[in-house]
Amino acid sequence: MLNVVIFGAPGSGKGTQSELIMKEFELDHISTGEVLRNEIREGTELGKIADEYISKGQLLPDELIIDILGKELDGKKDSKGVVFDGFPRTIPQAKALKKMLNERGTDVAVMLDLHVEEDELVRRILERGKLSGRQDDNLETIKSRLEVYHNQTAPLAGYYREEGTYHAIRGGGTIEDIFGLIKKKLDSLVTDSQDTQAHG
Ligand code: AMP
Repeated sequence: MLNVVIFGAPGSGKGTQSELIMKEFELDHISTGEVLRNEIREGTELGKIADEYISKGQLLPDELIIDILGKELDGKKDSKGVVFDGFPRTIPQAKALKKMLNERGTDVAVMLDLHVEEDELVRRILERGKLSGRQDDNLETIKSRLEVYHNQTAPLAGYYREEGTYHAIRGGGTIEDIFGLIKKKLDSLVTDSQDTQAHG
């Protein structure tokens, strides 16, 4: 399986690039943010809990989000691979993801870290907020999301460096330019795995 973690600060383009990766490589997509927003729309118990955290720009507790991820993964058994978008966001989540994938005989193939300057992130999120209607796309919540990102999520770069699957991507420029860089990396992984299969 080609399992891809798409990583980066809020506004770095994870959702946009995930869509393009899915189409090009015929992969499934799990966005924990999307799962939570659906729960909120449907007014479920989980949605009510999620709403409290999301509106403050805080992360949901690890146990809760890991449980959600496990259920999503169970629904994608015959997949060619999954793009993980917005998960993991903490070291315990990354360790849990590895365990869940290992139990299914697979692992993370690559972690793509989208690098974007902070003022550009804020500009993009505010722009998105005009269309998305997302309650967390406002200046106050963005500040807390960026802080949470720096404190709790950014350390995952070190975790994936140690795993040997870290790959930085220049996340500025056009959507097509950025996708070009991502495609090049994923093409090389697909070729490598075909070589391994062919030559044992
Ligand atoms: P996103 O759409 O990925 O930006 O996620 C929106 C919000 O959902 C985040 O700011 C968090 O409040 C919550 N969320 C999404 N994914 C996670 C996660 N992996 N761990 C904790 N909270 C999450």
